[in-house]
Amino acid sequence: MSKIAITGAAGRMGRTLIEIIQQTPGAELTGAVERPGISIIGADAGEVAGVGALGVKIVDNLESILADFDVLVDFTIADATAVNLEVCATANKAMVIGTTGLSEAQTARVRALAQKMPIVFAPNYSVGVNATFKLLEIAAQIFGDDVDIEISEAHHRHKVDAPSGTALKMGEIVAAELDRDLSEVAVYGREGITGERSRETIGFSTVRAGDIIGEHTVMFAGAGERLEITHRAHSRSNFAQGAVRSALWLEDRQAGLFDMQDVLGLKAIKA
Ligand code: NAD
Repeated sequence: MSKIAITGAAGRMGRTLIEIIQQTPGAELTGAVERPGISIIGADAGEVAGVGALGVKIVDNLESILADFDVLVDFTIADATAVNLEVCATANKAMVIGTTGLSEAQTARVRALAQKMPIVFAPNYSVGVNATFKLLEIAAQIFGDDVDIEISEAHHRHKVDAPSGTALKMGEIVAAELDRDLSEVAVYGREGITGERSRETIGFSTVRAGDIIGEHTVMFAGAGERLEITHRAHSRSNFAQGAVRSALWLEDRQAGLFDMQDVLGLKAIKA
């Protein structure tokens, strides 16, 4: 049985994670954390998630429950994840990181600490999105430099970072296949007299509206035709299922930095 703690327990992903852990054989929720000062501290995590009492109280301090879990699943905010990472590294705990919008320095710290602890760090835990990543490698190889590539994404109005971590990852995959450096070719939104588009550019556009859970489209547009590869999330349960699957997968791992492609065994499939 894998003992899992989650942080951000009252959040959109946190509540979904509690529900999915309940439904997953081999997984047990043994800890739940939220930020200090909010009213649900001390409440039962299962009650907060709407799945009935589980006997796991929500605490406001990760350090107070270190004896209770093997792996921490963290879907919170970048600054909280950065702190939790240090705590887990010191206490020798595995981590599944779902939080997006980490700074370059915070990401570098994830990479460094993964030398001593096992971490799954993925911008998107859905199986469909990770299949999309593979399809993008294939499409980029087929089209090469003969098309314009544009990435668009839409999310709910509460999302705090843009473009989404998933859209950026899609850009990185396509850029890597085409021997381009994303930091040099990315264009984030356009306005005014922008001039003609140059071929190597990879454009990003962002919609924030209502309760859209997450939609991504990568367009490969050439003369006379275009291919669009689209993924649409219908609920948060697919992200939570992937994150819990990652937590179980980490059970016997030594130190290292992994992503959902590792968890799903997709790296063995040749594009
Ligand atoms: P949310 O705002 O609903 O939930 C975040 C929760 O974290 C809140 O309840 C907040 O109180 C809590 N929190 C903040 N600081 C904390 C701290 N110091 N300690 C403990 N808890 C703290 O957000 P959400 O929609 O659940 O998304 C959370 C993160 O997960 C975002 O970065 C989002 O982009 C990311 N996300 C990733 C994936 C993926 O597949 N990788 C999927 C969905 C969301």
